[in-house]
Amino acid sequence: MADTSYLDWPFLDDAHRDLAGRIARWAEAEIAPTADDEAEEGEAIDAACRALVGKLAADGWIGYCVPAPHGGHFEHIDVRSLCLIRETLAYYSGLADFSFIMQGLGSGPISLFGSEEQKAAYLPGVAAGDRIAAFALSEPDSGSDVAAMKTEAVADGDDYVLNGAKTLISNAGIADQYTVIARTGEAPGARGLSAFIVETDRPGLEVTERFRVIAPHPLGTVSFTDCRVPRANLIAGPGDGFKVAMATLDVFRTSVAAAAVGFARRALDEAVARSQSRQSFGKKLSDYQLIQQKIADMATDIDAAALLVYRSAWTKDTRETRGTREVAMAKLHATEMAQRAIDQAVQIFGGQRRRRRQRRRAALPRDPRAPNLRGHQRDPEADHRQRGAGGGGGVTEANP
Ligand SMILES: Cc1cc2nc3c(=O)[nH]c(=O)nc-3n(C[C@H](O)[C@H](O)[C@H](O)COP(=O)(O)OP(=O)(O)OC[C@H]3O[C@@H](n4cnc5c(N)ncnc54)[C@H](O)[C@@H]3O)c2cc1C
Repeated sequence: MADTSYLDWPFLDDAHRDLAGRIARWAEAEIAPTADDEAEEGEAIDAACRALVGKLAADGWIGYCVPAPHGGHFEHIDVRSLCLIRETLAYYSGLADFSFIMQGLGSGPISLFGSEEQKAAYLPGVAAGDRIAAFALSEPDSGSDVAAMKTEAVADGDDYVLNGAKTLISNAGIADQYTVIARTGEAPGARGLSAFIVETDRPGLEVTERFRVIAPHPLGTVSFTDCRVPRANLIAGPGDGFKVAMATLDVFRTSVAAAAVGFARRALDEAVARSQSRQSFGKKLSDYQLIQQKIADMATDIDAAALLVYRSAWTKDTRETRGTREVAMAKLHATEMAQRAIDQAVQIFGGQRRRRRQRRRAALPRDPRAPNLRGHQRDPEADHRQRGAGGGGGVTEANP
């Protein structure tokens, strides 16, 4: 990355600076050479994801997604480390970034609330890349409004029996284990939900739909029909599901904003390089003040977003608070900023942006909205930011 001055900011310490250097060198060597040729769809994308998880795990990066001593590097997941790694991976490859963070998000409920037996049984495999993890919260009729979910889990002897469907689930189809939030009915709404570990080979679990998405990655619908899981697979207690889900998102949400910063940094670097090499009306594009203005706007926007990201991560790591206000501001600003930055870069690329391969090479998303990282959530996020400023509420989006 061209600009690494942000690494000197006081939100980071020397261990973070060392990590940033190591992940940058690793991504340059291991991800950059093949990023242009990443798979586009179907089984190829599944295989690419598995391979990326294996590679990330083998070189120790997934160890930042789970706690020690279960394959992780730290006793508590360090949000600043997650952000530095995501920012760098996203700069080179959205799929590498996705593969990294899903191991954390998918196993996060076990890391944060699992029993020692659950941690020992599931986390080492996740850290080693042998088990792919997924987080199943959203449903066809309940996205932002988690409390409206219908999937139910009914206690029956030593088991719970799950029925329902979860949709828009990242890693659906390749996951070995899902953390599933389901209604157990201890109380109305959000207080009647529980979290379960559901292994993919449980009878009654079926991936009933796969989606083709603009930024390709495994995504689909997972259905449960009389799917039995032992009570031992319940995470925390009955009725704790909403708390488990929200606390997990609290840890991983800032990193969504960090990935957006990574996308935007790449767009800026590519736009600068293009403006310095493209001649128009006898001068380089970069000689025109209008282009300089665009570049200056992008750089300013990126620094503002990065400040919010690392403030949020530092708050989560070092303060006894959920950091609701900080993370909501970081994610809202960074994801919208990334969309603006990509738009500017696409504009500077001119007609070349129409060429799919050229655009890929330049790391410019094919959908200008893609770096917005599911921008349709802006409104609840803004609403949440206001509530967070007043100290209440919980954002409910679960996308990585
Ligand atoms: C690529 C991708 C990956 C994903 N991965 C996962 C995953 O791994 N696991 C998982 O559980 N889920 C996942 N999701 C689902 C994601 O969490 C939901 O899309 C999100 O919660 C929004 O739900 P929805 O799509 O049903 O939109 P809705 O909740 O139906 O919202 C639709 C629109 O209404 C707006 N809206 C909703 N409520 C309000 C409000 N109170 N005020 C103002 N506007 C409002 C929203 O902003 C949005 O524009 C993923 C989604 C995507 C796109």
